[in-house]
Formats: sequence, C-alpha cells, structure tokens
Amino acid sequence: MKAKELLLKLVSIQSVSGGEAEIGEFICKYLSDNGLDPKIHEGNVYCSKGSGKDSLLLTSHMDTVPVCPGWTRNPNKPTDDGGKIFGLGSNDAKGSMAAMMDAIVSLDESMLDGKVFFSATVQEEVTNCGIGQVMKKLPRVGAAVVGEPTGLDICTSMKGLLILKLKAKGRSAHASRPSEGINAIYSAMGDIQRVLALDFPKSHNQLGKPSIAATMISAGTGNNVIPAQCEFTLNIRSTPFYDNNKLLALIEKAVKSEVIVQSIRLNSRTVPEKEKIVLAARSANSAAAIRGFPAMCDLALIDAPGIIMGPGNSAQSHAPDEFIEISQVEKASIIYGKLIKDYFGKKQGKSR
Ligand SMILES: [Zn+2]
Repeated sequence: MKAKELLLKLVSIQSVSGGEAEIGEFICKYLSDNGLDPKIHEGNVYCSKGSGKDSLLLTSHMDTVPVCPGWTRNPNKPTDDGGKIFGLGSNDAKGSMAAMMDAIVSLDESMLDGKVFFSATVQEEVTNCGIGQVMKKLPRVGAAVVGEPTGLDICTSMKGLLILKLKAKGRSAHASRPSEGINAIYSAMGDIQRVLALDFPKSHNQLGKPSIAATMISAGTGNNVIPAQCEFTLNIRSTPFYDNNKLLALIEKAVKSEVIVQSIRLNSRTVPEKEKIVLAARSANSAAAIRGFPAMCDLALIDAPGIIMGPGNSAQSHAPDEFIEISQVEKASIIYGKLIKDYFGKKQGKSR
C-alpha cells in the first residue's frame, strides 16, 4: 500500500477523539506486516527503525474532530476526485499520518546512523494526552517532526494555549430595581473589556502578539432577577515573549473576577534555525517557507527541538468537505524520507 491507498484506508476508518481503537489496530497491523515491531500504549501506536545514539521522532495524530455541519459528501467514505481526497480527517492529520507511515516503511535501515521513532497519537484534538503517554514510553528523543497541515512549510514556532474561566460576582435584586443590586453581567463585561485592552508591546517575528478571545459566557437565573454571578471563558494564545504564566499574571492583575485556570500546560514553542532538525528539514525540503504555526498541536508536550511540517492546508481542517491533494501527500512521503536521512547523515559503511 502506498501513501494514497493508505490515506484512503485511514480516512475510511472513523476516529473521532476517544474512538481511535480501530484505526490504531489498522496502523499497528500495517506496520507489523511491513517488518516493524509496533506497540500500543493507551491506544497510541509507536515503533522504531534503525539503531544508534541519536534519535528522531516522527509523529502525527489519529483522531479527528466530529463531523461539522455543511458537508455535501459522505465524510467517512473518502473519494479520489480530480487528485483530491475528500473525507473527515483527510487533511488534519491523516495525510501527514499516511506520508509518515509510507516514509518509515520505505526507509532503508542500513543507511541510518541512528534510530527513528514513529508514533500515531490519540486525543490530539481534545487534550493532547496521547503524545504525553507516548513520551513516557520512549527514551529521550533528539528531535521531533510533528505532522500537521502546513502546506509542507517548515514551522519553527508555535503559539501556546491558556484556557481560563472567570467568575464575576454581583448581588441579586429585583429587575425592577436594578440599582439595588450589582449586575454580574456588567462586571463581566468590564473585565472582558479590560482584558481585550491589554497591550503586548513585544511582537514575535513569526507568531506576532498573543491573542485573547472570550468564547463562552453564562449568567442569570430568571428574566426578572439581576444576576449575582456571571461565568465566562477566555481562550488565550501565548507566544515565546508572553508565556502562559506571564499572561495569567497579567490577566489576574487586570480583572476583578475570580480567575480559575483550566489549562496552562501547553506553552508556545520555538526552535533556532541552526538546530540540526531545522537544517535537515531545509535540506530535504529546500523550496519550503519557514514560518510560525498559528494553532496548537502535540509539539507542546514533546521535550525536544521540534518542527511542524505536513501536507495539506490548515484552512481545510475542521471544515465541511475537508480534502487534501494527493500530490502533496506523495511529496510529503518523499520529503520525510529525505529528512530522516539528512538528519542522521549517511552511515559510513564501516559496519558491513
Ligand atoms: Zn491536527
């Protein structure tokens, strides 16, 4: 099975976060049928090829988001339509997965002066817990490539994610006498405005400034009651200049509401351009742009220098009629193979 057939098969197996067992079994069987020795841990699949001191991890995620409204095709019956494969997860991130699987299976082990690991993770779209579980099973890796749709651009930085819940407090009163109470909705509005007015003078050359969005809000017990409490959620994207802890401190200082941290462990990442993994990616993929990755991915929990690079276009992710161009997936497979060889350098032949 080459990259295209692999992708068709991967997309035909539904794998919404939490339901990755069947696709995990398929990936495991494919790898072992092709001479590898894959393991499954907490639903994640991983394997390695080659040996030596230096090591490199290629990883992508198996799970998808649920089907969104607006699809005009069957999201679980992938079709090849004029060089594009349509289906849920085709772009995010089964195109990367198929290309990585094809690359590692095709790799000539005798040419490697090091060990390459591959992993297919669960739950990337919800908690990123899968990559955390895989990292506990692997020895410390020298570097990592995370497969996500970047149009094969080399992403050397990534924004972090901080999720906060805020509780604005007020005092109830009858709605006919609003001045006798304190309206928690208005307190929340004030805090949201204060947070949005925060200034971040330092802009990262690839990622720009942090962003803050209020994404959920709830208050009120009846149409005629001044609400005593209003809860709202802030989704904050951090940068290397303003990491999650720094942003939390700035927000706590700016608001009157109680601040409850919901997620703080996914920090932004950046890797210097002279790092070996970036040099290997550039030599394997010399036409690629080098840029930042605007979203969040498994790289946040990988404790090694890493890049994000994969076929597809992130505008297609989580969108109806998601598709990926087959030519990009095939190109990605070749580029991953080259990158692995360039990263380790060729064996000198003394072992024969
Ligand atoms: Zn993804």
